Amino acid sequence: MAKYIFITGGVISSLGKGIASACIGKILESRGLKITLMKLDPYINVDPGTMNPYQHGEVYVTQDGAETDLDLGHYERFTNSKIIKFNNVTTGQVYNTVISKERRGDYLGKTIQVIPHITNEIKDRIKKVAEVSNAEIVLVEIGGTVGDIESLPFLEAARQFRQEAGYNNTLYIHLTLVPYIKVAGEIKTKPTQHSVGTLREIGIQPDILICRTEKSLSDEVRDKISLFCNIRKEAVIEAKDVDSIYQLPLVFKKQILDEIILSHFNLICKFSDLKDWEKIVVEKALDPKYNVKIAFVGKYITLQDAYKSVYESLVHAGIANDSRVEVMRVDSEDIEKQGAENFLKEVSGVLVPGGFGSRGIEGKIQAIKYARERQIPFLGLCLGMQCAVIEFARNVCALKKANSTEFNHKTAYPVISLLEEQHKVKNLGGTMRLGAYPCNLKKNTLAYRIYGRQLISERHRHRYEFNDKYRKLLEKKGMIFSGLYRKQNLVEIVEVKNHPFFIAVQFHPEFQSKPDKAHPLFRGFIKASLALKK
Ligand code: GLN
Repeated sequence: MAKYIFITGGVISSLGKGIASACIGKILESRGLKITLMKLDPYINVDPGTMNPYQHGEVYVTQDGAETDLDLGHYERFTNSKIIKFNNVTTGQVYNTVISKERRGDYLGKTIQVIPHITNEIKDRIKKVAEVSNAEIVLVEIGGTVGDIESLPFLEAARQFRQEAGYNNTLYIHLTLVPYIKVAGEIKTKPTQHSVGTLREIGIQPDILICRTEKSLSDEVRDKISLFCNIRKEAVIEAKDVDSIYQLPLVFKKQILDEIILSHFNLICKFSDLKDWEKIVVEKALDPKYNVKIAFVGKYITLQDAYKSVYESLVHAGIANDSRVEVMRVDSEDIEKQGAENFLKEVSGVLVPGGFGSRGIEGKIQAIKYARERQIPFLGLCLGMQCAVIEFARNVCALKKANSTEFNHKTAYPVISLLEEQHKVKNLGGTMRLGAYPCNLKKNTLAYRIYGRQLISERHRHRYEFNDKYRKLLEKKGMIFSGLYRKQNLVEIVEVKNHPFFIAVQFHPEFQSKPDKAHPLFRGFIKASLALKK
């Protein structure tokens, strides 16, 4: 039978609950345990796929094509657990199921209530993840902050879980903030006391507290938290701000968080010291030999979370190249106003990420033209690839008004357009080309050199595709179509001739990069950027 760890958050949001959960997963996995992680999200949307990046940040796409919360990206980056659609549960999904069952008559005339019907559905979904993953430990992160109305059914389900599964098979970890008040020169434990108090009112006594703080917790502070929150002193874990999130597993390990968890579960596991992680990831992330500056030309650049996996992939590529990657975030609308030269003259690489809608498109196209003509390494992702095709059609093939039908319905040259099957689509949610598809690489291309093999699999999230009618013409003018989804004859990767590194992909490689295993496209991009700099 699986054991369950519930991770809740208190005081404020954005404390890094997702990263903390992933790191706990990491230190347990290093002890030889099979783990998995899941996230319970309190919002009523069925999934975040229809949400604006300003509302939600990045939408993370799983192998099996679910559009999920970005915390699932942390789970996959830190651990080897296979994250699939079941690993993200939302209030919207839970109610959807319960209401469908009610309409079918499955409840035999009963009154449908939050307890037990909604909470049972939540518990069933948690057990389902345990079952399909075959994990020994299931880490369940509960979204939101304790005290929110929305998260109550999830917390209640977590409470009931201990009744069912037993004390030694369930563990509650609470992540909280211990603020430092500058004028008083003091660390304050009261918000944490209140937060734990609120949890206790719901019937959950946390077993472990993780305290986010900018100053170290003194012995006295730990004593106080321990006493007021009713938690063993060694289970009060300090999570002081770190320079790199990849240090966090080491921070937890040092405070024997893994041992504390294992002893609660009565588990004896092999020893691990995370030395490899420290050497390969942390040391390189903190103290690299080189430095390289690249431009990131996007639309939501002021938002830390909008391109989370892409930023992390750049960090991974830096680690693999012993280099710090300085990311200059450029708003593509600023390029439209001030020209590409103004922003790109000092960078060694240009990256255009994915996106939706026409705003800022022309700036992205200008940035790509600049990189292509000046021989600056370029990596385009999804929309970035579509823009690269439009740019090439317009400026190399003299199809002046080339465009995607996403931005201009009546364009004379629809080089990017909808497939027939997408024309029929009515609902916005979950109807894009989603999840992993195989892609065949052409020999003697940059893509083939980068990946070092012929068959790859990458994750997708887009509606529009390269329009095959233009393939011959663009090819004649020097565009290389180096990756294809054979079954539907879809172009997945484009390159241009006579350029040191120009590659753009219809998929999202950022969903498969890991700190100790940088994705080949990002690794190659940073390598080429470093070469240009030298
Ligand atoms: N808007 C484009 C499409 O739907 C690209 C999507 C993306 O970049 N993820 O095809």
